[in-house]
Amino acid sequence: MKRALVCGAGGFIGGHMVKYLKQRDYWVRGVDIKPHPWSPGDCDDFKLLDLREAQNCITALTCADGPFDEVYQLAADMGGMGFISTAESDIMHNNVLINAHMIHNAVEAQVERYFFSSSVCVYKDMLPGDPELTEDDVIPAQPDNEYGWEKLYAERMVLAYGRNKGIKARVARFQNTYGPEGTWQGGREKAPAAISRKVAEAEDGGEIEVWGDGSAVRSYTYVDDLVRGIYLLMQSDLAVPANIGSPEYVSVDELAQAVIDISGKDLTIKHIDGPVGVQSRNFCNKRINSLGWQHDYTLREGMKITYKWVEEQVKELVASSR
Ligand code: NAD
Repeated sequence: MKRALVCGAGGFIGGHMVKYLKQRDYWVRGVDIKPHPWSPGDCDDFKLLDLREAQNCITALTCADGPFDEVYQLAADMGGMGFISTAESDIMHNNVLINAHMIHNAVEAQVERYFFSSSVCVYKDMLPGDPELTEDDVIPAQPDNEYGWEKLYAERMVLAYGRNKGIKARVARFQNTYGPEGTWQGGREKAPAAISRKVAEAEDGGEIEVWGDGSAVRSYTYVDDLVRGIYLLMQSDLAVPANIGSPEYVSVDELAQAVIDISGKDLTIKHIDGPVGVQSRNFCNKRINSLGWQHDYTLREGMKITYKWVEEQVKELVASSR
C-alpha cells in the first residue's frame, strides 16, 4: 500500500485529493491548521499542524513505517481576488515559509515524489484574443499580484530541489478551480462559489452584484478534473511545470448568467467596483494533454453540481439561524 501526505487536507482541493487517493487504496495522512469542514474523517490519519514551522513539517513527514511515497503540497494562505488583493504581505510571508520548510524537509525525510500546487497567477495579464501562453512564456515574469510572485519563486525552489537533491518534483499551474466543498462565504471564496451564493440568496426577480464590468475572461476547472490531472502528473516523468485547466474560456458575466440559468431564477447582473485581477487568460494545455489528460466537465455541468451544493449550504445556514 502506497503512503501519501496531503498538506492542506482541510481545504478545498486537498480534501478532494484525499478522497481521490483513498479511492486508489493509498494510506493517507492529512495536515492542516484546521480540520476539513465537511469531510473531516476521510484521512487515515490527520494532524493539526502549522506548516510555517519547520519542526511541524518534520512531524508531518515522520511516519513509523518509513518515508512517504508521495507528498501533495496544497497548503497555502489563499483566497479569491478580494483576499489576494489585500493580504499581500501575509500571503508572501506565510506561503514562502510553508513551501521552503516543506520541500527541504521532504528531501531530508527521503520522500520519493513531491507535488507543488502553483497557479496561472504566475503569468502576466493578457488581452482578449491574445495567443495562448505556453509554460515557458512565464519568463520574462510579470505576475499581476504578489500571490503569483510567491508561487513562481516556490515552484523554482521545488524544481531546484528536484535537480540538486534527487526528489521527483512535480509542479502544476492550476486555473481557477471550483466544485462542492470549497469556501463559499467569509471573504476567501472565489468567483464561482461567490456568484453561486449570491444567486442562491437572491429573491426571484431581483439582482446580484458582480465586481468589475463583467468582461474579464477566465477558464474554470471542475475539481474532479483537476485532481485527476494532479495525480497523472505526479506519476509521470514530467519534471517541468504543467498548466492544468479547462479550455473553455468565458467572461465573468457569462459565468454569472450560467449560474442564474441553472438556478431557474430571473435575476439581473449589477456591476459594482471591486478587485477583478487580470483582464484575460488563454493558456496552452499541451503538456498535460501529452500525459493523456483532458477535462471531462463542461462549465455548465460542473456549475450545476456546484450551485446545488452552495444552495444547500445557504439553506442550512438560514435554517440554523432561525
Ligand atoms: P484552500 O484555502 O481551500 O486550502 C488551502 C489549505 O491550506 C486550507 O485548508 C488552509 O487552512 C491550509 N493552510 C493555510 N495555511 C496553513 C499553514 N500555515 N499550515 C497548514 N495548513 C495551512 O485552497 P485550495 O483552493 O484548496 O488551494 C489549494 C492549493 O491550490 C493552494 O496552493 C492554492 O494556492 C492552489 N491553487 C488553487 C486554485 C483554486 O482555484 N482553488 C487556483 C490556483 C492554485
